[in-house]
Amino acid sequence: MTAQIIDGKASAAQLRSRVAGHVAWLKQEHGITPGLAVVLVGDDPASEVYVRNKGRQTIEAGMNSLEHKLPTETSQADLLALIEQLNSDPDIHGVLVQLPLPSHLNGDLVLNAIDPAKDVDGFHISNVGLLGTGQNAMVPCTPLGCLMLLRSHLGDLSGLEAVVVGRSNIVGKPMAQLLLGDNCTVTIAHSRTRDLASICRRADILVAAVGRPEMIPGDWVKAGATVIDVGINRIARDGKQHLVGDVDFRSAAEVAGAITPVPGGVGPMTIACLLANTVTACCRAHRLSEPE
Ligand code: NDP
Repeated sequence: MTAQIIDGKASAAQLRSRVAGHVAWLKQEHGITPGLAVVLVGDDPASEVYVRNKGRQTIEAGMNSLEHKLPTETSQADLLALIEQLNSDPDIHGVLVQLPLPSHLNGDLVLNAIDPAKDVDGFHISNVGLLGTGQNAMVPCTPLGCLMLLRSHLGDLSGLEAVVVGRSNIVGKPMAQLLLGDNCTVTIAHSRTRDLASICRRADILVAAVGRPEMIPGDWVKAGATVIDVGINRIARDGKQHLVGDVDFRSAAEVAGAITPVPGGVGPMTIACLLANTVTACCRAHRLSEPE
């Protein structure tokens, strides 16, 4: 293996500790404790695990964590009423509705009901617009985490050729916007892209956010490229369950300059960025300096 492993676990631990330091400062100097409310509708087991982890890490960083668990059959009106209540609660600085929502609920409507200033997931249409126009947005946590890893590994990204595979609102599109903001030349690829292999081979920065286990082999990776693997896929191999990314790690690590592992790459950065966004939202609400 030639590639350097980008250690997302270590970077996330450093970010969490910076966040905790800022929280301590907010408490000591200003008597303010940032609060994050997470709303979970239904009993999707993976979502329950994510929500539990978010709550635990929020508390570990010294913040207040509020969990609202609602039954699957919750009506749109009841969910909107809860969001309205959280929007007007001055002790809550971040509001997050865990996705996916049950199919009878309108996800766009629900996400756009969150106060954009408390939208720590960055999915509200106002934040999408702010990000797209290079203004001060709440940035979606997973692509923000990817950008932090890229900056800390590569420094200045200006002029680099970046290829993002995947165009979801949650990962692919905001990732492309962030890379553009850092002066990369960006290509967004998706399921209708022709000759994906040769497009990937152009990339100095290759971000895979597809949701297909080990879809990108090493011979799609340019020598020395930095590979960010966002995918989290559960597969059975040799009679055991494994987590794998969208990139075939073994073959890609023979060619890439650096690569994120799965698990231990992008995943840990996502929750750390959520904590950072919550503190940022709190600081903006109180017109205080934001964490770096
Ligand atoms: P979506 O399913 O919303 O989007 C997948 C994207 O991949 C779509 O744009 C789709 O194209 C594209 N795609 C699908 N098949 C192909 C193909 N054969 N060739 C090229 N492109 C293809 O997924 P998400 O963006 O929500 O998530 C992507 C992955 O990232 C998943 O594995 C998910 O679990 C993981 N994830 C990890 C997070 C973390 O914290 N590490 C957080 C969020 C997601 P089209 O639009 O044409 O359908």
